Amino acid sequence: MATECPICGAMAFVRRQGEFRFEPPPNVPGGTILVPGTEWEECEECGEQVISHALDQAIEREARRRRGLLAPQEIKAVREQTGLSQEAMAQLLGVGAKSYTRWETGKSIQNKANDNLIRLFGRNADKLLHLETERRPDRQKELADYIAHLPELKGENRLAIAAHGGDLPSTVAESLRRRLRQLADRQDADEG
Ligand SMILES: [Zn+2]
Repeated sequence: MATECPICGAMAFVRRQGEFRFEPPPNVPGGTILVPGTEWEECEECGEQVISHALDQAIEREARRRRGLLAPQEIKAVREQTGLSQEAMAQLLGVGAKSYTRWETGKSIQNKANDNLIRLFGRNADKLLHLETERRPDRQKELADYIAHLPELKGENRLAIAAHGGDLPSTVAESLRRRLRQLADRQDADEG
């Protein structure tokens, strides 16, 4: 039973079942993406297709897999293991906060360069914090020293230096403080 096409208005909009074929953009290797045993709607007149969110996600997952890129939940896991907010993570990576959020929610796919950056960040977040401080040595030297000597620091004022977050945006400074607090707590646990 055909209904009215939302694009061209022809009474030719029908439900289809079977194998959905999707031609990915050139940066996705492996040719046509095939999703068997699914459903979608399309116009027999103008060719417009309407697919479900689930089918869209299946295509997206396959495109990521072929390109070897981190999935949204993997990006989120990298960030959460550092205790950073989305905004602070974007700041440290050197990307726009909106772009970063879209990668984490799956609304867009990070390119390979940013995928590498996120993976490296996940393996050694403190190295990236150091880069930030190297870039602004005048303002951030205290923070760099603090991070470098964290294992040696004792006493209740151990967060005092980090609290002077220089010119970092307040949300970033707060995330760093939280992260440093976690490191300090872990240090206590290791010593205890
Ligand atoms: Zn149509």
